[in-house]
Amino acid sequence: MNSQHPGSSDTESIIKQLKQLVPECVIDDDIETRRARAFDRWPIAAKWSREELNTHTPLAVVRVGSAHDVSLLLKFAGTHRIPVVPFGAGSGVVGGVVNRRGYLCIDLSGLDGKPVLDAENGEATVPAGVLGGDLEQILNAAGRRLPHYPQSLALASIGGLVATRSSGTFSSKYGNIENFVTSLEVVLPDGSIIHTPASPRSSTGPSVAQMFVGSEGTLGIITSVTLRTLPLAQSLLLRGVAFKGVAHGLKAVRQLLDAGITPAVIRLYDEKEAVHIFEKSGLEAANRVLLVLAFDGNPAVAAAEQAESLRIAAAQGGEDLGVAPGEIWEKTRYDAGWLDRGNAGDFDFADAIEIAAGWHALETLHGKVLGAIAPYADNAYAHFSHFYSNGGAIYFIFFITGKDKDDAVSRFSKVWDITMRTVLEYGGSISHHHGVGEARKQWMAREHGGSLAVLAKLKQALDPQGVLSPGKMGFDKP
Ligand SMILES: Cc1cc2nc3c(=O)[nH]c(=O)nc-3n(C[C@H](O)[C@H](O)[C@H](O)COP(=O)(O)OP(=O)(O)OC[C@H]3O[C@@H](n4cnc5c(N)ncnc54)[C@H](O)[C@@H]3O)c2cc1C
Repeated sequence: MNSQHPGSSDTESIIKQLKQLVPECVIDDDIETRRARAFDRWPIAAKWSREELNTHTPLAVVRVGSAHDVSLLLKFAGTHRIPVVPFGAGSGVVGGVVNRRGYLCIDLSGLDGKPVLDAENGEATVPAGVLGGDLEQILNAAGRRLPHYPQSLALASIGGLVATRSSGTFSSKYGNIENFVTSLEVVLPDGSIIHTPASPRSSTGPSVAQMFVGSEGTLGIITSVTLRTLPLAQSLLLRGVAFKGVAHGLKAVRQLLDAGITPAVIRLYDEKEAVHIFEKSGLEAANRVLLVLAFDGNPAVAAAEQAESLRIAAAQGGEDLGVAPGEIWEKTRYDAGWLDRGNAGDFDFADAIEIAAGWHALETLHGKVLGAIAPYADNAYAHFSHFYSNGGAIYFIFFITGKDKDDAVSRFSKVWDITMRTVLEYGGSISHHHGVGEARKQWMAREHGGSLAVLAKLKQALDPQGVLSPGKMGFDKP
């Protein structure tokens, strides 16, 4: 039955069996629920006609309540060779949950029990379906925080954030989701439930937990996540600095990182994107780029880091703009209205492509990609964020209004194609944090080379029947 849509009598029989197998679960086979689980926030899927959507609908949506339910369902799916796709909260932007019709959607939103806080070790064990924003509130009430703040904090599940190797705006200081995960509960494709060992660190071989971070539902279904947490920050200092151009801003960022200063937030907006924050801050944009910095934690340390950063920035011609640009960023950091507005029309697209590259390529890539996509995008700009000692991420934002749907889709694909090719040419990664999904799977072999075979062998070993999220990650030969 793999990859084939079962006939209606087969489907009825499967649903009947599922109801007996997991009677506590909510099982939906009505068309609206199935359609609603067939896509995420990938702009291409959002433009699908009803017919296109119908070629991607699951045969049923099962809302599970425990790892045991997931285990029973995966055993059943393996026996009957029915593909399975895990669905977190559907905030993915690259089509991770998208698959060919006839699969079983395991909806994990029911794994929403209370997180268990271990005050002594400062850890939280969180059911995979809990939303990031809800977890943060629970932690804050207990005097803790998980400084992992993706823009989609309120929209994404903890399991999804782990499964996509996500990144938050405070990553330059605290790292990305992989740096917070200490252990996972995962249901493997054969239905066995594993708990990876938990300790602050271990050198007993490769980390099994990390193998599932970023696996996008292809190797196992994450049902619970144990994370390191931190005490609430005692202070947050926000600042804006203007530079004459991207090169000066990047140089200042590199110098302050080299000096051992780690602002929690480092965001460098190019001239075009900076206009939005300049305007809201009541400041003259004057064709300048804008660096937004945030320092948190111990007030004395944060103040010293800020003072030293401003000194380093000034040496690169950076003009201290005070707190206003930083405060505007802080107030609007979860607002993604541009994405909804930009995708509202039938022939409109708005999207963001995030990539990573070494210092050698950041400035060049910014110019090359924006230059090369200009004939296809009606508007495009970028910011740099998520910095490391050896490089950082660029976030390209673009808007398209097509003459008709074909024109819009073809220009959208062209922008993606150019960006992926250019980044690979400069030795960068085609994704810093949104993941692979449908949008990037064709580029996986180019990025990974021979190491994709290692991932494919792992997939083959864990899921020899190819039941979990088939057709993803570039595992299938074109
Ligand atoms: C407005 C907006 C802003 C965003 N900002 C950011 C950002 O700042 N940083 C960032 O990293 N991302 C961002 N994203 C992308 C998105 O929020 C992340 O990819 C998120 O991690 C997806 O979580 P989810 O629960 O919605 O997963 P889904 O979209 O449901 O699934 C994503 C993928 O993970 C798999 N999956 C989901 N749950 C599990 C599980 N428990 N076990 C195994 N596989 C699973 C799915 O099969 C799919 O392949 C943004 C998205 C939007 C819409």
